[in-house]
Amino acid sequence: MINYYTPKNLEELYSSLKNMTSKSKIIGGGTDLGICLNKKIINPDILLYIGNIKESKEINLINNFLEIGSSVTHTEIENSELILKYFKCLAEASENVGSLQIRNNGTIGGNIGNASPAGDLIPVLYMLDALVTIVTSKKEIIDISIKDFILGPGKIKLNSNEVILKFKIPLKKDYRSSFMKLGSRKKLTISRIGLSIGLVLENNIIKNGDIVVGAISLKPISLNKAFNYLIDKNLTKDLEYIKEVVFKNLSETILEITPEKFDKNYKAYATKGIVDDIFNKISKL
Ligand SMILES: Cc1cc2nc3c(=O)[nH]c(=O)nc-3n(C[C@H](O)[C@H](O)[C@H](O)COP(=O)(O)OP(=O)(O)OC[C@H]3O[C@@H](n4cnc5c(N)ncnc54)[C@H](O)[C@@H]3O)c2cc1C
Repeated sequence: MINYYTPKNLEELYSSLKNMTSKSKIIGGGTDLGICLNKKIINPDILLYIGNIKESKEINLINNFLEIGSSVTHTEIENSELILKYFKCLAEASENVGSLQIRNNGTIGGNIGNASPAGDLIPVLYMLDALVTIVTSKKEIIDISIKDFILGPGKIKLNSNEVILKFKIPLKKDYRSSFMKLGSRKKLTISRIGLSIGLVLENNIIKNGDIVVGAISLKPISLNKAFNYLIDKNLTKDLEYIKEVVFKNLSETILEITPEKFDKNYKAYATKGIVDDIFNKISKL
């Protein structure tokens, strides 16, 4: 028999977490976990749902951070004015997840909880230096860098009596960002390449930023080597040069590190189009 816990505030959450065992599961929108339950791949003793806790449902600006509750859905992210204003890349990543039904139910907490190499929000949160806020049964609230939180495919740094409450993204000045993915089938696909770009611009000159790629390796990869060549370039006048540098570095990186089973040759070739498209888009934002 499965026990369902639906705490309504943090005090109730602490008590629920005390009872969690290695067999217990946290459920968000259930778009993935529901399949595992239906197919009896898992047989949990407890299902914990935290979507009734206010802090897990909100999107707020607090102390120079944009905070997003773990139960916020992809649909809420893609329509959030705050997210569109500060981190368009995240709204665009959520907008590209699965089908409407998946986006209406699937949450940011579940996307990160899955820790799938193809998860669309993972490279974006990496690029944005997001912190994962965890609640423990001992009433602790701890922030961990997403880079330390994702340990590998399907593996996260979370004990059975802990849960992700929210994500915190540090605000950046003069920041412009975008996300694009290359998939085998539009909309209903698991990402084949997820490309996330963030630029700090002064009068259209690139001063800082990062490019992070998902689904080419077990964890997101930063193209910081290529990025060094983009510093002080003009996003309009040097656009073709910028695209060439990024495409060359990305395809070389794929050929070097991507496992054969991840369609390495196809990805190395297909990056040209996605790099062109994302830079055309970000240069016009
Ligand atoms: C047809 C289909 C298409 C899809 N397409 C895409 C796609 O294009 N891009 C993409 O990235 N993903 C895709 N997915 C995967 C999935 O739908 C998303 O990753 C979604 O965001 C998962 O969220 P959820 O709330 O439904 O997670 P759930 O299924 O509820 O949970 C997923 C995992 O996260 C854990 N978890 C959930 N909430 C928390 C929490 N608060 N704290 C700790 N752990 C937690 C669960 O225990 C479980 O291990 C697809 C899935 C399907 C079935």
